[in-house]
Amino acid sequence: MTDPLREKFDAICGLESTPEFARDAVNQAMIRHWCDAMNDRNPVYTDPEFAAASEQGGIVAPPTMLQAWTMRGLRPPKRPAGGTEPLGQVMMLLEDAGYTSVVATNCRQEYHRYLRPGELLSHSSYVESVSDEKQTGLGIGRFVTQIMVFRSDQGDEVARMVFRILKFKPGTGRKSPAAAEQEEEGEVKAQRPRPSMTDDTRFFWEGVDEGRLLIQRCSGCGRLRHPPGPACPACHCLEWETQEASGRGHVYSFVRFHHPQLPAFESPNPIVLVELEEGTRLVSNLLGVEPGKIEIGMLVQVEFSQVDPELRLPLFRPIS
Ligand SMILES: [Zn+2]
Repeated sequence: MTDPLREKFDAICGLESTPEFARDAVNQAMIRHWCDAMNDRNPVYTDPEFAAASEQGGIVAPPTMLQAWTMRGLRPPKRPAGGTEPLGQVMMLLEDAGYTSVVATNCRQEYHRYLRPGELLSHSSYVESVSDEKQTGLGIGRFVTQIMVFRSDQGDEVARMVFRILKFKPGTGRKSPAAAEQEEEGEVKAQRPRPSMTDDTRFFWEGVDEGRLLIQRCSGCGRLRHPPGPACPACHCLEWETQEASGRGHVYSFVRFHHPQLPAFESPNPIVLVELEEGTRLVSNLLGVEPGKIEIGMLVQVEFSQVDPELRLPLFRPIS
């Protein structure tokens, strides 16, 4: 089958946009604020004496600041109308063909060298490829891969970024089996949002499915932590194991959430911060108590609750 858009995409791919210049040259003040915000204490970014004696021979900017120099700000000036830039042209073709929804799927940056104070960056972009139509979980769509090229005022390329999005037709995605079943029965019940599943959090949800409350424990210093994450905030160790919690704890804090009302949740929604007896805390819902009767210090026990056919959650219930 021939692709009616293929020829048009091919004509645009590879065309570079007009360069846009950074609003400010690379400067110490922005570097300092960035390092504060990111808690990056490397003195080669902020200490002129240290930097002069280092192999860099002077202050350099953190490479990951790349887009801090070139982003257009919260209220950028309007671009010229008409979608004349290559990416704009591809977007218009896709929107006209019904691919009106968008989600970003990948971003990868490559740094060729460090930037130094005084350098004025510019960036331009081109569309590298537009995929054939694919069925994805979100819907029928096409992946658009854009390359952004960053150059110094000398014209040399200092970095590049690959940015991929999926433009898709809304309502054409795969439904969950439970949603499809409900639709067949003519009833559509709102469902709680699904937990985000990553390599860091999978153990937790697999534990919940087995009726076990698993807490991440640092292999370096033994500290428990929740929500799960890749590194220990205390000793920065990347190794970890799990400990099965008893599920007993107490209400450390709570809110009764009145507004806005969310269809899949009861209202007011009793949200509790439970301190487990092992010593870490997690956010959950409280079962079996009137919202007005929740108290700080209340003893609670986990209950693995099947809130819909596909979702089991560790909720809590008061115990005497
Ligand atoms: Zn640790």
